[in-house]
Amino acid sequence: MIDLRSDTVTRPGDAMRAAARDADVGDDVYGEDPTVNELEARAAAAVGKEAALYVPTGTMGNQVAARTHTDRGAEVLLERESHIYKWELGGLAQLSGLQPRTIDGGERGTIAPADVHAGYVEEDAHRPGTGLLALENTHNSKGGIAVAPGDIDDAARAAHDCDVPVHLDGARVFNAAVAHDVPANRLARNMDSVMFCLSKGLGAPVGSVLAGSEGFVARARRHRKLFGGGMRQAGLIAAPGLRALDNAGRLATDHENAHSLAAGLSDLDGLDVQSPETNIVLVETDEPAEAFLDACEHEGVLGVPFDEHVVRFCTHLDVDRSDVERAIGGVRAALD
Ligand SMILES: *Cc1c(COP(=O)(O)O)cnc(C)c1O
Repeated sequence: MIDLRSDTVTRPGDAMRAAARDADVGDDVYGEDPTVNELEARAAAAVGKEAALYVPTGTMGNQVAARTHTDRGAEVLLERESHIYKWELGGLAQLSGLQPRTIDGGERGTIAPADVHAGYVEEDAHRPGTGLLALENTHNSKGGIAVAPGDIDDAARAAHDCDVPVHLDGARVFNAAVAHDVPANRLARNMDSVMFCLSKGLGAPVGSVLAGSEGFVARARRHRKLFGGGMRQAGLIAAPGLRALDNAGRLATDHENAHSLAAGLSDLDGLDVQSPETNIVLVETDEPAEAFLDACEHEGVLGVPFDEHVVRFCTHLDVDRSDVERAIGGVRAALD
């Protein structure tokens, strides 16, 4: 089976398992786990922030960030198809009493300064006020779109002009960095906080990181505890996370594989393939996505439905070029 459902399906190899076994640990709620402390320091440096917080999931990182930046009742400005709005169970409302205000970012899911100004709400006797702008890079639902440094900076500047802080959902920010050939800290430079996942393209079994200023992270640490994310000897899972940081450089391989996959699939009748910018390939299907995926599974290829006629295939650490060739063959057979 070639599993292209997500870059979260990777299994830790021997080096990560050995790192977990041999990790120095302590009680991280007391700040005494040296492996977690090392991971937080290296992760903060990787995105150019003063400090970072290890969290179990990207979802928790985003939700802790929203809670930390805002007061109850505020509005959060974010893209209509963003992960925080679409795929996190309405957590802004459920966990923090926040009201989302969505922006239609169009085909690429980008938010322009004019959108920020149009969506901004000034607090008064009737209106809650905008407490946060949340951006996403790469944009998952739009097909792993890598937003350019200049574009993300422009949106952030517009928010800052209104005294609104900016959070980056950078679950795949290292993929965006590779796509634009810049270090990740360039993309995070004007963000007040950034979350990234160790458990996606970087290949860790568990974990994400939320980074920002020292003051922000100190407050976020309390919200992590509140949301149930204070972990004890977490060095066991942080140690593979440290290894995962070393994988940022190899993401270009996933992007090349996604490119090959898209090229091979676009030759097939009945498919309309979006040209990938990173490791995600969106494919529009003539037949319903579910039926198409059932046929693919029968031929040994797994993807996920994204819309009634759209499926997502994702390349990652555990698929190589020959897997991609076999996947193309499998999809071809599925269409016959
Ligand atoms: C996967 C993802 C998340 C959440 O990560 P989990 O670890 O699955 O909770 C957040 N944002 C984006 C854009 C993602 O792709």
